[in-house]
Amino acid sequence: MSSVKVLFSGAVEGDWAALFKKVDGVNKKNGPFEALFCAGQFFGPGDDSLDPSDALVKYVTGESAVPVPTYFIGGFGAGANAILEALPASKAPLKYLGRSGVTSVHGLNVAFLDGVYHHATFTGKGEDAAAAGKGPACPYYTPDDVALLKAQLKALEGEVDVLLTCEWPRGLTTGLQGALPEGYRPATSGSSVVAELVALARPRYHIAGGEALHCARPPFSHKDLGAGIRVTRFVGLAPMAHPGKAKSLHALGLAPASTLEPEALSAAPEGCTPSPFDLKQAKREADEMAADPNFSRWQQSGAKKPRRDAPAQAQPIAGKPDVPRDPWQTVVVKNLPWAATEEELETFFGQAGKVINIWRGTNPRDGRVQHFTHVQFSTREAAERALQTLHNCDFKGRQVHVEPSTAGTAGTGRGREGAEGGGGGAGKPVDGCWFCLGSVAADTELVASVGDELYVALDKGPITPEHVLVVPIDHHPASVALAPSAFAEMERYLSALRAMYASLGRELVGFERHLSLRNKGGNHCHINVIGVPPAAGRRAAEAFKSAAAKAGYQLELLPPPTRGSGPEELRQQLERAVGGCDAEYFIAILPDGSRLVRPLMRGERWPMALGREVLADLAGAPERASWKACALKPEEEAARAERFKTLFGPYELQPGEGGQ
Ligand SMILES: [Zn+2]
Repeated sequence: MSSVKVLFSGAVEGDWAALFKKVDGVNKKNGPFEALFCAGQFFGPGDDSLDPSDALVKYVTGESAVPVPTYFIGGFGAGANAILEALPASKAPLKYLGRSGVTSVHGLNVAFLDGVYHHATFTGKGEDAAAAGKGPACPYYTPDDVALLKAQLKALEGEVDVLLTCEWPRGLTTGLQGALPEGYRPATSGSSVVAELVALARPRYHIAGGEALHCARPPFSHKDLGAGIRVTRFVGLAPMAHPGKAKSLHALGLAPASTLEPEALSAAPEGCTPSPFDLKQAKREADEMAADPNFSRWQQSGAKKPRRDAPAQAQPIAGKPDVPRDPWQTVVVKNLPWAATEEELETFFGQAGKVINIWRGTNPRDGRVQHFTHVQFSTREAAERALQTLHNCDFKGRQVHVEPSTAGTAGTGRGREGAEGGGGGAGKPVDGCWFCLGSVAADTELVASVGDELYVALDKGPITPEHVLVVPIDHHPASVALAPSAFAEMERYLSALRAMYASLGRELVGFERHLSLRNKGGNHCHINVIGVPPAAGRRAAEAFKSAAAKAGYQLELLPPPTRGSGPEELRQQLERAVGGCDAEYFIAILPDGSRLVRPLMRGERWPMALGREVLADLAGAPERASWKACALKPEEEAARAERFKTLFGPYELQPGEGGQ
């Protein structure tokens, strides 16, 4: 995506005619611009509740033209109440951004905070506290305004392209050498609230009004939180009516961060300094920062040319290849201080038990270092202890988060009720899903039996003629996430198929793979089942185990359900074994009903073909592992479906069988 041409303006103070005249000129000369953002007071001096002047009203009614779509904060001053009330219904390209928040304009993430700091309003202390901070046109922001913005910043996926405020951040020039901008009072200019927001938002550009001067500070970098440093360029814009004609407009061609390579976001430009807002913390962490080339650059006050190589940042940790990775001995750790060494990690987590492996991967999509680290203990009990005792504990000044290694790998972050990969409501048909029986994409000719909540269909690329899939009718991601009644019906179907295969002198083997798929509403649960000769049935467990071992995974045996135990007990047992309904996993089903289970940890990639390869091997037809080699013509499929229905007929589930 190419860059978006945008204009920024300082305080307009009610002279919209002058602003739009100036913008019109710039737009004709250097445009077209896609948007104009105004930071600083947009209305003239005076009470919010005053009647707006005719000149302002004409922009709302469309009689006067707004040359470039305009987005503003500073929604206070003479006539503000009436105009802000009228604007949402107006067709004029004039939009008040609001009190605070993050919005997207032409792909740019724009964060904003309207108003300025006012002690009584912000702290709720003092006589005028109650009167201030009311209404959309209040010149002062409240703790709620700031809290809302912080919450949206924390929830934001991706970068803040622009931060707009009506105030400069306090401490902007801390540590800068040389003359300060004329008229700037470092001790009193700006607010600490805005400084804190800059440190949190890490915006690429911070545009602010509020001082009677123009200043573009040398860019500064924020500490690496795992995806590299981030750089902010601050531009303070003068009010339009500045007596000395200081700059009040700023033009940028800005490509949204979402379209940029990660390296472009974490590159430190010439003359870049550390963030002035991290300095206090930096002093506390002097040792840590001494290792950061940015920090020494800061102390050298620009005497040397800045280094162009990347500063210290989180490194991947390879881990020991010879230690088999066991999800149950392993925890996932987040919010670690990046400067922590492997030795320090080992010592810290050693409080829970012996640590045998530590690893931190990179994201396969963009090569960035993952924000989580795996710590594996020598026993499962030690991992359990780490979850119980080390979660939220302080480690080198940060609260570390310790989570089970399997939880949430399917990315749903939800419990059983709403468990579903990808999106859409659980159980609702998903357009284009092959397995949703109601979907047009479903191949209904291959359906051999339909129960209350599940159905059996012939596999489209059969390994054997009786290769079938057991599938929930509704869109559910995984068998362990099924309702008890559906899981029970699945077990009845497996029993019926086991009996049918036995009549052919074969034994049932199968598998289920739950990987979170991002498309088509996420995974739709389906269990592959075939019948194999008894000798193959006997070596099935070993075949699955050795295929998994080749890929570096150890399968764990879950014994067959004991006599008298119900399907819900089995479901719960499986759910515990895979680490929850929102976990990704592979389950192999063996002839005696026992299971081999392996949940997946974050960053692990299960070989997609593994299940089919083992089934094809057990069926004595390894060449049929490839699905494509097995595709049949439609007329062959129809004949095969008829043959299977005849075979399965005597074993068909009886109506009402589940309703006991
Ligand atoms: Zn589906």
